[in-house]
Amino acid sequence: MRLIVRSSAIHAAGVFTLEPISKGTIVVEYTGTLMTHDDADSLYNNRPYTYLFGVGDGTNVIDGYGMAMYLNHSCAPNCETEEDEDERIWIRAIRDIEPGEELVYDYFLYDGEGDAPCTCGAENCRGSMYSPKELRKRRRLARQQSGNIRQQVRH
Ligand SMILES: [Zn+2]
Repeated sequence: MRLIVRSSAIHAAGVFTLEPISKGTIVVEYTGTLMTHDDADSLYNNRPYTYLFGVGDGTNVIDGYGMAMYLNHSCAPNCETEEDEDERIWIRAIRDIEPGEELVYDYFLYDGEGDAPCTCGAENCRGSMYSPKELRKRRRLARQQSGNIRQQVRH
């Protein structure tokens, strides 16, 4: 598969294909170092950008290097990720992709710090790279926190 990294309208750099890719094709592996989530936390404490990919039950992450870590997030992706039984992550085309198109998948971020605004420009953009489930959790926590504050003010 001939892929290149070049500047992207979505964010800094992205991965583009030089050849057509058929739906269902495995495009590239998310290569990197397998480490525990805790080790990654201490390694990347306060770092705004990381290339961590959660695998298995979430205990482990892949600290990405290589081509796949340059794929950008989109809320209207043309690729998706899948994990095999060895906790390896593969990126697969979910539709036919034309030469020159940027390869993107939905990051479904979770457990991060701060906002992760999305600038993918898709019609159905949810405005964040966090997963819908994570966004619901964050909204719930925000409500609980504001509830606590009101309680403290009353006392
Ligand atoms: Zn988006």
